[in-house]
Amino acid sequence: MKKISRRDFLYCSAGLLACTTPAYALWPFSDKTESPSIRASIRGKVFKGDAPDKLWKWSHEGFSYKKLKNSRVMCNICPNHCVLSPGDRSACRSKVNLKGTLYSLAYGNPCAVNTDPVEKKPLYHFKPGSKAFSIATAGCNFRCLNCQNWEISQSRPEDVRHHELFPGDVVKEAGRADAQSIAYTYSEAVTYFEYMIDTARLARDANLHNLLISNGFINTPPLLELCRVLDAANINLKSFRDAVYQQLNGGRLQPVLNTLKTLHEQGIHFEITTLIVPGYVDDEDMLKQMCGWILAHIGPDYPLHLLRFFPQYKLDRLPPTPVSTLVRFRELAMEEGIHYVYPGNVPDHEGNNTYCHNCKKLLVERKGYYIPEYHIEGNQCKFCHTIIPGVWV
Ligand code: SF4
Repeated sequence: MKKISRRDFLYCSAGLLACTTPAYALWPFSDKTESPSIRASIRGKVFKGDAPDKLWKWSHEGFSYKKLKNSRVMCNICPNHCVLSPGDRSACRSKVNLKGTLYSLAYGNPCAVNTDPVEKKPLYHFKPGSKAFSIATAGCNFRCLNCQNWEISQSRPEDVRHHELFPGDVVKEAGRADAQSIAYTYSEAVTYFEYMIDTARLARDANLHNLLISNGFINTPPLLELCRVLDAANINLKSFRDAVYQQLNGGRLQPVLNTLKTLHEQGIHFEITTLIVPGYVDDEDMLKQMCGWILAHIGPDYPLHLLRFFPQYKLDRLPPTPVSTLVRFRELAMEEGIHYVYPGNVPDHEGNNTYCHNCKKLLVERKGYYIPEYHIEGNQCKFCHTIIPGVWV
């Protein structure tokens, strides 16, 4: 294993979402003004000849892949559909082709482990005040210019210091931490799918909840398999423009929309997070179009978190999102018809509270991760008995 720096060791590291807090010199989104050096492309970019010579202890055969001619393999977990020749490494850095078989190198070796309040994911309508045992391995299928967890998301599993926690160990540790859920989070859970699904199956058997915190860039068949043991998700809808997805994140919009529709159809509670990156995502027309799509395809009840951006990673010269922009966008999204819209990374703003969408009374007061007031009975508003979307008990 390569010698690591202290920075690489992120055990007990804190973080909201992988790739959610960003930045860059005020570089408004436009093909004319974009700096070519910071384009976040990833598709088809596998690492030729970068696989290790032999497997290590934390290897596991890929969950879904196809064997092709000449010992090549194609991973079917996410829309990148990496095609690897023997000795190649995937675009997400966590999978390799060894002698014609696809292996994950991220199975049982989380580099970030922590117990978080569920509100930190953020999930505001799922078991408020409960704890989520949170894990992540190295690797990501995006290249967000603003990633807040780039030290792990843009690393190979061999290059980061990690713990040995196989699926059964994760479930035991979650119980020991008095957590009600296990969250697959921080980097990108889709890229450690094999580890996640085996852990999630054991967690379900142990009456623990499974939370997916993800960019949503996953193919539908593996997602459906995961839905069998999934309790809630937060999906990062990074923009509502495919061109921004390609430029800022190295991804595509449509597969993420497909994920939202699939979760909706499967009856999984989820919340949506959008980081309002100045110059890229702070576009009122885009927000209106996004709300229109949400209302037309999945309805008004899924909470929407609009997060404040702070300078980060390759966008470290952009200014933070003005709080006034967050407040205006929250009002706009609610005017468009979304029932629950929260401003993220704006502590103590009253918009962090939950108000009944019918009678407008305060239901859940939030002071950071502390909940001083709570007025939901069962799943209903205590005052007008409207059903409040979410999983409350
Ligand atoms: S999960 Fe990783 S290996 Fe599989 S297709 Fe996506 S980027 Fe490629």
